Amino acid sequence: MEKKKSCVFCDIIEGKAHAYKIHEDELSVCILDIQPYTKGHCLVISKRHVQWWHELSDEENASLFKVAKVVANRMMDKFEPDFIFLYARGRRIPHTHLLLIPTHSGDVLDRFFNALENFQESPQELARLKEPQAMAEAAKLLGQG
Ligand SMILES: [Zn+2]
Repeated sequence: MEKKKSCVFCDIIEGKAHAYKIHEDELSVCILDIQPYTKGHCLVISKRHVQWWHELSDEENASLFKVAKVVANRMMDKFEPDFIFLYARGRRIPHTHLLLIPTHSGDVLDRFFNALENFQESPQELARLKEPQAMAEAAKLLGQG
């Protein structure tokens, strides 16, 4: 395995660092995230040190999602969230990991992604505000005071 120097995920996989292991198969392991967004927040990690999920083999990707699905169903059963958030990362720790997060409506992650969606929609709304008719209307209303 092409282990990188001081990779915390490789250390966990090799048993050199502690983690709360939840589930594993030959190619992937699921652990609790030590900085959870919600109770039960997990990471699914490839056993091979590869930065990005799309650089893994098809078998490794299938394993990641199989392990994720097993744990997601346990999360649904134990925590009864609205849904399980899944997000692939490899930046801060350059070793493929899926974030698997039980998400309830209105919790921190739900609010964050709702804010992102609002941000996506805002350019059109802001563009409407600067149309001549809208500007003239605002000027007229404020000018009346
Ligand atoms: Zn690694």
